[in-house]
Amino acid sequence: MPRKPEPIQKILVKIRPVWIQLVGEELAQDAEMRASLNEQLERFFDLLIQTAHSGDTAWMDSVLLDWAKSSTETNLETGVYQVTFLLNRMMALMIQAAKETLTKQQALDLLAAVFPIFTYGLGVVARYEMETRVAYISSEMEKAQKQLARVDRSKSAFISVAAHELKTPLTLIDGYASMMEDMLREGKGLPLDSLLAGMRSGIQRLRSIVDDMLDVSMIDNNLLNLNIQPIQLDTLLEILARDFHSTVQRRRQTLEIRHFEGSDQWIYVDSARILQAIRNILENAVKYTPDGGKIIVDGRTLPGFIEVTVQDTGIGISLENQSVIFEKFGQLGRLELHSTGKTKFKGGGAGLGLPIARGILEAHGGSIWVESEGCDEEKCPGSTFHLLIPIRTETAETKMKRLFDELEKKE
Ligand code: ADP
Repeated sequence: MPRKPEPIQKILVKIRPVWIQLVGEELAQDAEMRASLNEQLERFFDLLIQTAHSGDTAWMDSVLLDWAKSSTETNLETGVYQVTFLLNRMMALMIQAAKETLTKQQALDLLAAVFPIFTYGLGVVARYEMETRVAYISSEMEKAQKQLARVDRSKSAFISVAAHELKTPLTLIDGYASMMEDMLREGKGLPLDSLLAGMRSGIQRLRSIVDDMLDVSMIDNNLLNLNIQPIQLDTLLEILARDFHSTVQRRRQTLEIRHFEGSDQWIYVDSARILQAIRNILENAVKYTPDGGKIIVDGRTLPGFIEVTVQDTGIGISLENQSVIFEKFGQLGRLELHSTGKTKFKGGGAGLGLPIARGILEAHGGSIWVESEGCDEEKCPGSTFHLLIPIRTETAETKMKRLFDELEKKE
């Protein structure tokens, strides 16, 4: 006598708790995760029963798409097809649960019913994940293309600004040379001191632009070699106080360099490079702050880092430009960001100071950012630059070197 087939819902109800437990044990790492996974599995199973009963696989769509959506967002970058994997495991554990709980016939009936549903599920999820992945890849490609176009544009802008910057001191030197020529021709006595001083300042300017360009190119190509030595930030700040003294006096600005917790700590950095980075920031603070303004250098110790802040009462920086100004070549395409802009108290500069400061800090494992309420040449909201310098402890290598140095001294 042919056997009366057992209703599939009944078989499913029987296998349900074992299957949910197996899936939970395998896929959830902790109790909290298991609770939320269980909720999802219960929902899945309800729909599985509906689908098996009605024969309409569309019942599964809502849960499958919810899972696919929440997974693809986190897995796009790594390319993991998480829900496809999950469904495969769920099917395998269904077979295991069937073996443990059902008779052979029940197991065969169950698998005949659920296998097409899982296959359908895999199709839906795989299609969704593929589509999302393709959309993600094309948007990434579009971004990369835009970035390339920007780099291209900014590189040619860089060449034109750099050429312009180089021309200024060249014209100056040229002018002094012509003056000398004229005076010689006319047999006049030469005011050698002032002519030479003028020429020297032009040459110095040229040298600093060329040095900056070389630094940018080294940073660009990861060729910045750090000469790590122990130093106290106080020492660097004292050097800067001395160097900026006359400029700040001329501009009637106040430069307040504070001692702070950690400024006397011995840290291991490339002191010449860190000095250069802070100097670049200070130069800008002086440059973009009107006469009579105030600049404060302060800092604090954070876990693993010393943070130096340079705060000014200058023209400030718009939110939009706050990220652009640190990019190599980024600011050069926009001449209003360039120091030969309209504000009369601004000085000269090739627009490389911030990318260099950033390159130096990043080479140390640190970072740099700016805070400002915006750019207003009348109200002068000011800017605060933050420089995060990692505190390195003495490495075994430097300890050995110190030991050798000591031994050498004794010999
Ligand atoms: P440069 O000063 O030579 O143009 P930088 O790379 O040092 O080049 O700075 C890039 C731009 O960032 C400047 O042209 C200026 O617009 C802006 N900037 C930097 N520091 C300040 C500051 N302290 N206040 C206002 N604007 C600033």
